[in-house]
Amino acid sequence: MPGEVRVRFAPSPTGLPHIGNIRTALFNWLFARHHGGKFIVRVEDTDQARLVPGSIEAMMDGLRWLGIDWDEGPEVGGPFAPYQQSERLKIYHDLAEQLVSQGNAYHCYCSQIRPAQDSHEQRDRRVSASADCQCRNLSQDDISKLAGGEESNVIRFAMPKNGVTRVNDLIRGNVEWKNELLDDFIILKSDGFPTYHLAVVADDHLMEISHVMRAEEWLPSTPRHLQLYEALGFEPPKFAHLPMIMGADRAKLSKRHGATAIGEYKDDGYLPEALLNFMVLLGWSLDDKTEVMPTQTIIDNFLLEKVTKSAAIFDQEKLLWMNGVYIREMTPEQLADRMMPFLERDLPKEYLPVDRDYLCRIAPLLQERIKRLDEAAGMASIFFKADQIDNTDILVQKGMDRDSTLSALKAALDELNAAEDFQHEKLEETLNVVGERLELSRRQFFGMLRVAATGRTVTPPLFEMMEVLGKDSVVSRMENAVERFSAAG
Ligand code: GLU
Repeated sequence: MPGEVRVRFAPSPTGLPHIGNIRTALFNWLFARHHGGKFIVRVEDTDQARLVPGSIEAMMDGLRWLGIDWDEGPEVGGPFAPYQQSERLKIYHDLAEQLVSQGNAYHCYCSQIRPAQDSHEQRDRRVSASADCQCRNLSQDDISKLAGGEESNVIRFAMPKNGVTRVNDLIRGNVEWKNELLDDFIILKSDGFPTYHLAVVADDHLMEISHVMRAEEWLPSTPRHLQLYEALGFEPPKFAHLPMIMGADRAKLSKRHGATAIGEYKDDGYLPEALLNFMVLLGWSLDDKTEVMPTQTIIDNFLLEKVTKSAAIFDQEKLLWMNGVYIREMTPEQLADRMMPFLERDLPKEYLPVDRDYLCRIAPLLQERIKRLDEAAGMASIFFKADQIDNTDILVQKGMDRDSTLSALKAALDELNAAEDFQHEKLEETLNVVGERLELSRRQFFGMLRVAATGRTVTPPLFEMMEVLGKDSVVSRMENAVERFSAAG
């Protein structure tokens, strides 16, 4: 690729970042890393009325969590700082005035000509449909009279009335717009802030952005941007508009599809590498069949030619499945370390701190059974303490009665007490003999043992669990069960 690749993610801090925002960041980052270029984060906070405090921090936390690092931008700085548009107002003012003096833009006084009882913001919005704005043709005389007044005004771009504006989008191909259908959009608002259109063009140029890769919803803004580039004498970057993301019902992605803020995925126990892998498939594919792949493989193969035009479908079930795949691929130590913060958050405080070595032994028993890390505590808690058996009837298996259950419990307890080797295969072998002697099926005998040792009917494999729990713990749990059972009988 000729010239350095410089791409940017340009979030507006107007809310918590969601899958759509982060997918855009991810594609830009992958493109930069693939080409050995730079990935820049720029904060587009020109719409002051819509600022939501904390959204930038949440966005940066989300990127960091996913391992998406930026070469220039907030916190890291860079040669084109500042990277926050509200700190760059002079640049936009100068460019707006340059456009006015060149005749490519004009001051619009509609707010003064028209009844001015509405607020500045409403007014800006109302006059953004400029069809009936006459200010483009005001005489010098009218202008001096109006400019002398106290009311602030806006600056509009003077859109050429003829011809077409074309873009050769790297994903969508050739797209063109008739200029006569494009309005004289506002470039500088009455609050002194630029609109997105002016600021984005100014900064993409000044920050030497080579490719603008953004969501498809920005495609209709592109002819405005191209006109600004031309009027300012700037060479435009290349454009690539990423496909929309829709829910399985083909409606635009929204909360009801599970498209929550990125931080919620973290809290819900999704792994960042699984979420990253899942997100890259929202509009890109390696070969139409491979789904699970390491980030490095994605980077190595991330070509825009493989980005689809058609909308991507967000499938929460697939994300869950993929998360499970990543969980199963880990070593016990890795899984233990990833589960640890969730156990610290969700286990009863009396079980803390969790011993790491112990957790490494528990991990393989949970690995096949959880798809999200937030399921770990519920499943692991029996390794710390058995659930209390409130109704001892759950010890009585199908085809057994209370007497046969009590003798079976006692026989098992004797055997466990005598056991020298608590290795799971050995335990299973010896207890199997006891069950056979009592003429109980494996299902009956082991089912009863499971409840006695854990208080639950569904657990990880019984004997592997007993091995991890160790003799002392298993024996005391069994004694407890016998005691409760006899007392209740
Ligand atoms: N600030 C815009 C947004 O919030 C960025 C659009 C663009 O990338 O040009 O999505």
